[in-house]
Amino acid sequence: MLDKLGQNISTALNKIKSATLVDKKLIKEVIKDIQKALIQSDVNVKLVLKMSKDIEKKAIEENPPKGLSKKEHIVQIVYNELVQMIGTEPQKLDLDPSKKSIILLVGIQGSGKTTSSAKLARLIQKRGLKPALIAADVYRPAAYKQLQQLSEKINVPLYGDETRTKTPIEIAKDGLNKLKKADVFIIDTAGRHKEESGLLTEMKELKDELNPKEIILVIDGTLGQQAKNQAKAFKDAVEDIGSILVTKLDGSAKGGGALSAVAEINAPIKFIGTGEGVDDLETFDPKKFISRLLG
Ligand code: GDP
Repeated sequence: MLDKLGQNISTALNKIKSATLVDKKLIKEVIKDIQKALIQSDVNVKLVLKMSKDIEKKAIEENPPKGLSKKEHIVQIVYNELVQMIGTEPQKLDLDPSKKSIILLVGIQGSGKTTSSAKLARLIQKRGLKPALIAADVYRPAAYKQLQQLSEKINVPLYGDETRTKTPIEIAKDGLNKLKKADVFIIDTAGRHKEESGLLTEMKELKDELNPKEIILVIDGTLGQQAKNQAKAFKDAVEDIGSILVTKLDGSAKGGGALSAVAEINAPIKFIGTGEGVDDLETFDPKKFISRLLG
């Protein structure tokens, strides 16, 4: 299941690469295979149809640029369309140094949210700003300690409530008051509740109360189709997810599921997690990602 999308697209493209004759029939067949692969991965059907139309038109009508064979040209067209689907250029986390900003990290337990909060703090610190961490996950008992250890490692102030008696909103507000010297507040939220609806309601309340500069959805890059469902659930709850952070791309996972999440909620991936360490966070490069997916 894992990264079937990338595999299936690669298999389809191999039909072109290994063909002796590339004609209209073969192009149509390969596009059908790619369509199937994208739809199986839950990429939005309308988007898939538009993409395949574009690929077909270009593959049939366009002449290969100098130096590129017909085959290479078609592979290039498919690659470019996929890149376009997730945004061609790397997107920056836009922070105004003259203002205080709040970044809310949301996502399911185990996605890598707590680790990513610290990684993000580290990255912001490297940009010369003053980050602070707020531990607002009151459901996972170890979450506070984990973030405390990480914050000490990177020397970033932390606010939380180890006794877990305050509500997440109270913690966040107290944190904002206590850590006055900071200019970017990164809030680590819960990933599990007694019920899923409770979790999503809590995220909506946090958003309404805190008015964050950006809500970042953290998604486990090793997930397949579930990534899309998670993205949709959070998007329905908080409405404006500004960007996605895909974790665990240091292993064999290629992040095909994350692609479906992007297509589902129309938010760009801005960061990828590439390890368990606090420095293992990279800004996302769409072109590199697609090469890897098809690799
Ligand atoms: P949370 O429940 O969403 O807060 O998830 P955690 O931050 O506790 O992460 C869950 C597990 O995934 C931990 O063992 C992390 O070390 C691990 N993890 C998080 N991000 C990455 C990553 O980018 N790469 C790898 N290999 N592991 C990660």
